[in-house]
Amino acid sequence: MTKAPTPTHPGYRGRFAPSPTGPLHLGSLLAALGSWLLARHHRGEWLVRMEDLDPPREIPGAADAQLRALAAFGLESDAPVLWQSTRGDAYRAALERLRGRGHAFDCHCSRADLADAGGIHRACVPGARREGPAVRFRVPPGSRVAFDDAIQGRFGQDVAAAVGDFVVRRADGPWAYQLAVVVDDAEQGITDVVRGADLLDSTPRQILLQRALGLPEPRYAHLPLVLDDDGRKLSKSLAGTPVDPADPLPALRAAWRLLGQPPRALDGAGAVDAALRLARAHFDPAAIPRMNAMPTPGVDP
Ligand code: GLU
Repeated sequence: MTKAPTPTHPGYRGRFAPSPTGPLHLGSLLAALGSWLLARHHRGEWLVRMEDLDPPREIPGAADAQLRALAAFGLESDAPVLWQSTRGDAYRAALERLRGRGHAFDCHCSRADLADAGGIHRACVPGARREGPAVRFRVPPGSRVAFDDAIQGRFGQDVAAAVGDFVVRRADGPWAYQLAVVVDDAEQGITDVVRGADLLDSTPRQILLQRALGLPEPRYAHLPLVLDDDGRKLSKSLAGTPVDPADPLPALRAAWRLLGQPPRALDGAGAVDAALRLARAHFDPAAIPRMNAMPTPGVDP
């Protein structure tokens, strides 16, 4: 018998967008599970996008290992995975649109040229010249962006003062994350971006790009970051606590607790499928901690 498709609400499409820089760890599992639960709670779809934009930072095999780990946690994309390495034409077209509207320009300034301005670009340093310029998005003075984050509350940033003109294509070739994420969130019809709070202050840049490109602005929810014992973000490159796909339940329970959900709700689940069913039934978005960062929990007994 064919399984009936889960009815989904056309008003909600979420996503998880890892970079293949190492194994899936507790922090990324939290973002994956949090975005999946919110999507399911709203009867929406959940897509996976592989942000393989930056080959020097990537670890061979990491993308496939992350996808296998997600599958072991029962978290599988509702549509084929979108690989950013295949999306150059779309990024190029967006860049040309920005240029055509006067929002993007070639820039020969090096990091050293910008050191006196604290690394912030406001105007090109006269005479700065190097082969293969970067392309920057022009942020006029006074470009203030504010948005209502579903978890962090209202967040505002004066993008010109805090960030300045930012790179959309790097001098050494790769597309910048900020451009690629905006183009792909629109291409995939993402209505709700749920991710770690380390990206909260990137969001105003992304909103400026959406406005300049005439793209819809998704809703945003930034989950608290998990910090290691020294108070640093558990980054994939550090591989702080890689989760074990061969024994997914302990990490799944830890991520569930970090989302502020009642630990007992998953009692009795002996396998991932059962745990996710219980998680869907008991998930309360209002219980997600409204904080920017929180310490790693102790290991589950
Ligand atoms: N690729 C980013 C990361 O792994 C996430 C980007 C996003 O969710 O917008 O941290």
